[in-house]
Amino acid sequence: MSRRRQIYEGKAKVLFEGPEPGTLVQYFKDDASAFNDRKKGTITGKGVLNNRISEFIMSRLGELGIQTHFVRRLNMREQLVRQVEIVPLEVVVRNVASGSFATRFGLDEGTLLPRSIIEYYYKNDALDDPMVSEEHVTAFGWATAPELDEIMATALRVNDFLSGLFLGIGIKLVDLTLEFGRLWDNDEMRLVVADEISPDNCRLWDIKTGEKMDKDRFRQDLGQVEEAYQEVARRLGILPEGGPADVKAPKTVQ
Ligand code: ADP
Ligand code: MG
Repeated sequence: MSRRRQIYEGKAKVLFEGPEPGTLVQYFKDDASAFNDRKKGTITGKGVLNNRISEFIMSRLGELGIQTHFVRRLNMREQLVRQVEIVPLEVVVRNVASGSFATRFGLDEGTLLPRSIIEYYYKNDALDDPMVSEEHVTAFGWATAPELDEIMATALRVNDFLSGLFLGIGIKLVDLTLEFGRLWDNDEMRLVVADEISPDNCRLWDIKTGEKMDKDRFRQDLGQVEEAYQEVARRLGILPEGGPADVKAPKTVQ
């Protein structure tokens, strides 16, 4: 671990130089943040669970022919990914009104939207990730119009697939946030799904009880945050062997 060069430390993950050129190691931390880092905390075992959950979801997407950055999981907290040039957008797909969206449009939390709605936010902590339109995205050159078409189509495909996947385990996919990256093979560029897909960036509600099973439990101080992440992993059939005990933070960094 300590031999690797650290490329970046974000709010939820650390990126290290990977073993081969063009690869990175994503280390999943237990650190939790919300409201652009104004609220900070730790969710014990989150890194272990998100590493597994993201591995599982990215692998299923790969099987559908949706390309992702994921290569393989290395250990409890790390996965190997292809290094990409990140498109500086948070691509949000919403199925049900919640969070800032419900506030903005004066909708009750839980209102079913007439169709899935895509929003773009410019990834910039200093600016608080402002919402932007396609006009901003193309005019400022964050992505081209054809790239944006592809991003939108892929985001909807991911949303449809994950909605069904979660429905099958009694969970409603309220919304999700995706990041995309550019990957070059010689002269050819492909857009792939990057970053992570986990309860940190999806809103997941239990279908029967309506209970939140995602980072909103942390944002809103609802308690039982670890348990919610564990329950998502358990229902997906991927709770780490040995159960919750495995989910203790191993001291692999430093
Ligand atoms: P942040 O605090 O910026 O959200 P995270 O803790 O989530 O950061 O760390 C992940 C960072 O790595 C993000 O900035 C994300 O855009 C970037 N990233 C994710 N996947 C890749 C990849 N395959 N190649 C390069 N950068 C990536
Ligand atoms: Mg992030």
